[in-house]
Amino acid sequence: MTEAAGTYHDGRTSAARAVRVRVADGLVHIDGDEISTAFPLAAVALEPRLGGLARRLDLPNGASCQVPADFELPTPGDAPARMERWVNEAEIRWMPAVVATVLIVAGLYTGIVYGVPAVANVVARRISPSVERGMGDQALSSLDRVALEPSKLSADRQRHLSQRFTALATLADPAAPAVLLFRASPAVGPNAFALPGGTIVLIDELVAEAQHDDEILSVLAHEIGHVQERHTLRHVLQTSAAGVLVAAVLGDVVSATSYAVAAVPTFLLNARYSRAFEVEADVFGFALLDKAGIDRGHFARFLTRLEEKHGGKSELPGWISTHPGAEERARAALGDR
Ligand SMILES: [Zn+2]
Repeated sequence: MTEAAGTYHDGRTSAARAVRVRVADGLVHIDGDEISTAFPLAAVALEPRLGGLARRLDLPNGASCQVPADFELPTPGDAPARMERWVNEAEIRWMPAVVATVLIVAGLYTGIVYGVPAVANVVARRISPSVERGMGDQALSSLDRVALEPSKLSADRQRHLSQRFTALATLADPAAPAVLLFRASPAVGPNAFALPGGTIVLIDELVAEAQHDDEILSVLAHEIGHVQERHTLRHVLQTSAAGVLVAAVLGDVVSATSYAVAAVPTFLLNARYSRAFEVEADVFGFALLDKAGIDRGHFARFLTRLEEKHGGKSELPGWISTHPGAEERARAALGDR
C-alpha cells in the first residue's frame, strides 16, 4: 500500500500526531491536524520491513512517521538507487584526490629513480639568466671569503689573457660571451671553474703551471663548455634533488634556486661534475679549439703534465676530473681531429 494512517513525530517533542501518509506524483504527502506537508520521494527513507512491526519513515526535516508494516514506497528500486547516487557522489568527490595522490607519488618515484637529471635540466632551462647570474655572484662572494684571494698576475698579463679568452668565448656564444675573472688560491691549486651564469674564474696557480698560453686557453675552452651547457647549475640542481622535485611538483622555480644557491660554493671547491658533463665539456672545448685554430695537443699535454705532477693526490685540480681518466681524455683530445 502507498497510503496509510501514520503517527507523526516532529523529532523535537514527544508529541505524536495522527496523520495520513500518501504517495503521489513523486512526493510523500503528510496531512493531519495542523500538518500538511510533502517531501520528494528521494528525500525520505523507509526503514526495512521487520515482520509485522510498524516501520519508521524518516523525513528530511528531522521528523519521522510511524507507518504500518505493509506501507511501501511506490518504487521498490528507489532505496538502492539512492544508495547508488550516494556512492556516485562520494566517488566524484574522492576520486580526483586519489588519482592526484597516485600521480604525485608515481611522479616523485619516477623522478627520483629516472628523472632527476632530466628534471634538473628542465628546471635549469626555466631559471632565467639573471637569476643564474645572481647565484654565481653569491657563490663568488662566498668563495672570496673562504678560499680565494686577489690575483697576483700583473695588469698586462691579465689584459692579454682576457683578450684571448674573450675572442674564444665570443666564438662560442657571440650574443653572451662568458666573462673571465682572475683569482689566486694556494688552497684550490691549478684550477679554473665555471660559476653559474657564465663567469669563469681562473686561478693564478694554473697560469703558473702552464708552459704555453694555449694550454691555459685549452682549459678555458673546456670551462666555456661547462658554461654553455649550464653544467654547474644543472649539477647543483641534480644533487639538491629534493629542491628539484619540489620545483617540479609545485612548479616552484624559486625554491629550487634557493636550495641550489647554498650548494654552489661547496661544489665548486670540490669541483666534480659527472663523467657525462666532463665528456660534454671536453667535446665542446675541443670543437671550440678547432674553430679558434688552437692545437688540441695543448690540452692533452697540459692535462698529462698536471696528472703526472698531482695524480693520485686528493688536491688534483677539479678540471682534471677523476672519472674520465686524464690519459683517456688526452687521447680523446688528440683523437678525432
Ligand atoms: Zn670540467
